[in-house]
Amino acid sequence: RRKELRKLVDRPTVTKDGHHVELAANIGSVEDLQKVLENGAEGIGLFRTEFLYMGRSSLPTEEEQFQIYKHVLEKMAGKPVVIRTLDIGGDKELPYMKLPSESNPFLGLRAVRLCLSRPDLFRTQLRALLRASVYGQLRIMFPMIAVMEELKAAKRLLQEEKEKLLSEGVQVSDRIEVGMMIEVPAAALAADLFAKEVDFFSIGTNDLIQYTMAADRMNENVSYLYQPIHPSILRLIRTVIQAGEQAGKWVGMCGEMAGDPKAIPILLGMGLYEFSMSASSILPARQFMLQASRSEWAASVAEIMAMDSQEQIEQYVNTKLRSEA
Ligand code: PEP
Ligand code: MG
Repeated sequence: RRKELRKLVDRPTVTKDGHHVELAANIGSVEDLQKVLENGAEGIGLFRTEFLYMGRSSLPTEEEQFQIYKHVLEKMAGKPVVIRTLDIGGDKELPYMKLPSESNPFLGLRAVRLCLSRPDLFRTQLRALLRASVYGQLRIMFPMIAVMEELKAAKRLLQEEKEKLLSEGVQVSDRIEVGMMIEVPAAALAADLFAKEVDFFSIGTNDLIQYTMAADRMNENVSYLYQPIHPSILRLIRTVIQAGEQAGKWVGMCGEMAGDPKAIPILLGMGLYEFSMSASSILPARQFMLQASRSEWAASVAEIMAMDSQEQIEQYVNTKLRSEA
């Protein structure tokens, strides 16, 4: 079985009815790249840059960050690379940075909220990204956007740093895509408005589920609420994909759900374009896609959207998958 999967490493991911989807990988460090290449990823859909900032005693400099982003882009040799700006706060702390003590850190100063309150730190990362952009196909992504003001502020800082670099004679690619994560329900519900301001969306289901269900993603006492294919979550995802489609912007997913075999058929049927997952999930996902019909799954989605529990939806998907095997 592994040998069979190996043969798919260089195959483009096209469904039986001719739709291309992009199967990308999530990484947290440069060390992850080997597995990404071995498993035939068509790009990187999420580089969690917070790991550059963790396990050390001071902030990484612009130059240090530039070298790492450049390395990742070069290794991917022109394949798209989504680099997410710093997502610290919540459960992730930096020993050398004093964050305010909060009673609900996951609802507090986290990710882009923190970056916008510390523009010095944010600008350093944006400059490193802009400088690296000429070494590949860079996609910059902002995490935890909830309201338009945050997106516009982040884009403004990016634009300002780009203009500064250009006036200093530093080259910056003019093909950079700028997108945002959809992981706060407010952003999912207003996706039609955000779609006008970005090149792409990537749905972060790990947080989207947590915030939609009001259930801590790590808390076992409420883990029964953590239901990726629950009707409420599927409605939010569908809203986002349709908003992207209407605006002509591609929509991806980089939460764990994107690599979940029972979720993938539904997401395909909804028209999700990019699926970003751990490297080891890519070849099994490609094997599924190659024999799947997107239009058939789209018809299934129409039925699934009338169901009222995750359990029922899961049974439906499993039955259909078994009948096709
Ligand atoms: C997510 O929330 O789904 C996501 C991909 O981001 P993280 O897991 O890093 O919070
Ligand atoms: Mg997240």
